[in-house]
Parts: sequence; C-alpha cells; structure tokens
Amino acid sequence: MAYDPKSPHAENFIDDAEIRATLAYADAHKSDRELIAGLIARAEDCKGLTHREAAVLLASDQEDLNEKMYELAKRIKEEIYGKRIVLFAPLYLSNYCVNSCVYCPYHRENAHIRRKKLTQDEIRREVIALQDMGHKRLALETGEDPAMNPIDYVLESIRTIYSIHHKNGAIRRVNVNIAATTVENYRRLKEAGIGTYILFQETYHKPSYEKLHPKGPKHDYAYHTEAMDRAMEGGIDDVGCGVLFGLNLYRYDFVGLLMHAEHLEARFGVGPHTISMPRIRPADDIDPAQFSDAVDDATFAKIVAVLRIAVPYTGMIISTRESKASREAVLDLGVSQISGASSTSVGGYEKKERPEDDSSQFAVDDDRTLDEVVEWLLSMGYMPSFCTACYRAGRTGDRFMSLAKTGEIKNCCLPNALMTLKEYLEDYAGEKTKKEGEVLIEKELAAIPNERVRETARRYLYEMQSGKRDFRF
Ligand code: SF4
Ligand code: SF4
Repeated sequence: MAYDPKSPHAENFIDDAEIRATLAYADAHKSDRELIAGLIARAEDCKGLTHREAAVLLASDQEDLNEKMYELAKRIKEEIYGKRIVLFAPLYLSNYCVNSCVYCPYHRENAHIRRKKLTQDEIRREVIALQDMGHKRLALETGEDPAMNPIDYVLESIRTIYSIHHKNGAIRRVNVNIAATTVENYRRLKEAGIGTYILFQETYHKPSYEKLHPKGPKHDYAYHTEAMDRAMEGGIDDVGCGVLFGLNLYRYDFVGLLMHAEHLEARFGVGPHTISMPRIRPADDIDPAQFSDAVDDATFAKIVAVLRIAVPYTGMIISTRESKASREAVLDLGVSQISGASSTSVGGYEKKERPEDDSSQFAVDDDRTLDEVVEWLLSMGYMPSFCTACYRAGRTGDRFMSLAKTGEIKNCCLPNALMTLKEYLEDYAGEKTKKEGEVLIEKELAAIPNERVRETARRYLYEMQSGKRDFRF
C-alpha cells in the first residue's frame, strides 16, 4: 500500500514506510548545513514545511542553525499570535472506562482507583467553581464507557454547562475530548455547540499503539486514527490532534503528527485547529519510568519550535502536566494556549480532594491558582486571554484558517484579549494582578493599529467598568 495523504484509510495517510523513509532522510541530512539553512530561510514566509522538511530540522545537529531555528519560531509566534496566551481548564466528567491503556490509571483493570461519574448537579457545582476562578473555556474529558458515559450523557452535560451563569461568569466554549466515535455522534456534538473536538493519537506507531491499548474499543488503530475524518464528516471543522510524548519513538510520532495534519488539509481543506503535546506523567498505578522514550526538556523545546515553524497557523497547547519552568521555556517558542489551575480528578474543582478520594488521571506539575498563572503571564509581558470569540462568531474551520493565513485574525485576537482580560480583572483578579493587568491593557490598547477598532475597544473597556460584559470583536 502506498502513501496517500488524501486516502481515508489510516494505513495510507499514516504510512509506516513513508515515516521510516522520512526519518532515514532526516538522519542522512542532519548535518547538511545548506539544506537546513535553506529550510529555515524558506519557512520565514509562514507557509509551513512538509513533514520531511520538518524532520530534517528536528534532526539538525548544527547548533548555530538550531539557534536560528529557535529565533524563527519566536518570530513566527510573535507575528501570528502576538503576545496573547489563551487560558482554559479541563473538566473531568467521569473516569469509568472500558479500555486498558497502559499509561492511564483509568484503565479498566485498575480496581482500587475511585470511580466517579458526575451528576448534572455535581457538574453545575464544578462549573460554578470554575466560573468563580474566571474560566470561560473548558475541555471536557471522560473515559470511554458506552454504558456509563453514553453520548446522551455527554450532550446533556454540555447543555448543563452552557446554561450556567453564576454572577458574571459563563462558560462560552466547551471543547470536547471523548473517545473516537461515529459520524452521527460527531454530528450531535456539533449541534450541541462544541468548540474543538480533541482526540490524542497517543502514538502513530501501529504495533506500539496496539501494545499500549491491549483491550477495549481503543485497541482498533484504524478506527482511532480515522476519528478526525469522521468528526469532519459530521460537521466539526475544528479538531485538535496530539501525541503523548514518552510512549514511543518521539521522532516517529512527530512525523506522524505532521502527516496527520497534511492529510486533514489534503482531504478536507483544513488542518488541525490545535496540537497538544502532553508528556507522560506519573499517576496512581502508572510509573513513567516504565516507558523508555522519555523526552527531555531540550528535546521538548525543539519539538515545539519545529512544530511552530512547520504548522504556523495551528494553535499549540501545553497543560499543567508541565512545570512552571518547562512551560516558561516553550511559551515564546510557539505555545498559544495553556491550562491553568487544573484539576485532573473527577469532581476536583468543587472541593479539595481528600487523598483517599483522589481520582487524578495524571499528576499536575503546575499547581498554581489561576490568578497566579495570570499574574505570571503578565509579569513576562504576555497577554492572558479568555477569548472564545471565533467559535461564537462562526469563524471556524477554513473560515478561521483563511483569516489566520492573511494575518487578519490578529485584528480580533488583541482586542478580544483586552476585553476578556478586563473582565477577569474586574471580576476575579487579586490586587497585584489587577494593577499589572490595567497597565498592560492601557499599553496594548494604544498599540491597536486600526483606529476604529481601537476606539470601539476603548468604549467597551469603559462600559465594562460600569458592569457590562461579553463584548467581542
Ligand atoms: Fe480510558 Fe482514556 Fe484512560 Fe485510555 S486514556 S484508559 S481511554 S480514560
Ligand atoms: Fe482565538 Fe479567535 Fe479569540 Fe484570536 S480571536 S484568541 S483566534 S478565539
């Protein structure tokens, strides 16, 4: 079977022979200064690189050129995303699961972990706790269990979440990370008003994938790998891909991830909206030492930089799995979204868990409050943003991508970041954060190039002081 990015079949668009040939090519050219310098120069136009070209950059052992690569990643990040960093939180609905993923404590053989599925009332309380922190954007997470967590439960939970307006709070975008499902179920999720459908591939290496998922529906590599195609057929045009670094040969997965993006672009005209890059973490009965392919911090930074160069318009997400220091190291290299003050436990927001109640999917390495995270971003000159405007304005899929590719999206991102930061400062921030935030808003407001947008933003900011909310561009 030959490599074909347009094929609907996983074994053709994630072709093992093509990945191996790409890695061999990258190894053969890792010191090829002319080629590497040429790729860096060409990528300056923000049009991205192919998986093979990106693999060469990732393999490059030319330190001075690698430095140039990092500088380019920073320039692309600044050019397309500016200083804004979008914040979100995961919300775990249920950890019942029929799969046996060997890296996740929710695997079905784990008899001692506390199993929990939130009722609609409990979801309400979780969402109020999240709104009281200032969150506006959630990523829903559930284990796969058709009896305990059927699609109707997920849909009902989404309706519940959107219906809650506590004080000035609101969840305005619900992204969904649930198991691979049918076109019909994706259609229903779309109708329920989800933002992005997120599904991590974990690894693209089929034999490893099958070993890591020995039982349950997730064992089916093709069904899982083709899930984004079904999501798009069901009308969801913002999909989020990701691999779990530390499970397999990271270079193999890096190439697979880019081939997946190329496939979605070739078949549906729009690549992934986001890419997540979780690294494996300890949890309950999971010891990361059992996975031999741990990705160190330097390699992780290089992966982020090359991805930024290869797919400039795809948002990059990093979670609280990563420490403050490791998040800091990759923010300017390309990350555009981070989670903050996350609980990875079912029901973890409403009350602090007693240790014996812990049901965390993984250990969080960054356990600061949302206010601390916002203040930290401000202190580094970033613009914390709770923006959800694009999805609410119908700017999704290829509509979003065409605005992103012409650079027009920047005219929305900055003013929307200002609006949502101002809401946060008015309703949730501590004194220090508020002071720093107001200074940044004044400064960035003056930097909005379009006079009409600038004046509208100024008026909206003024109206917010007297209690109005939810302005957007
Ligand atoms: Fe279940 Fe997901 Fe954990 Fe696998 S990774 S055991 S599917 S919750
Ligand atoms: Fe994201 Fe659109 Fe808001 Fe920019 S304007 S931060 S792209 S939702």
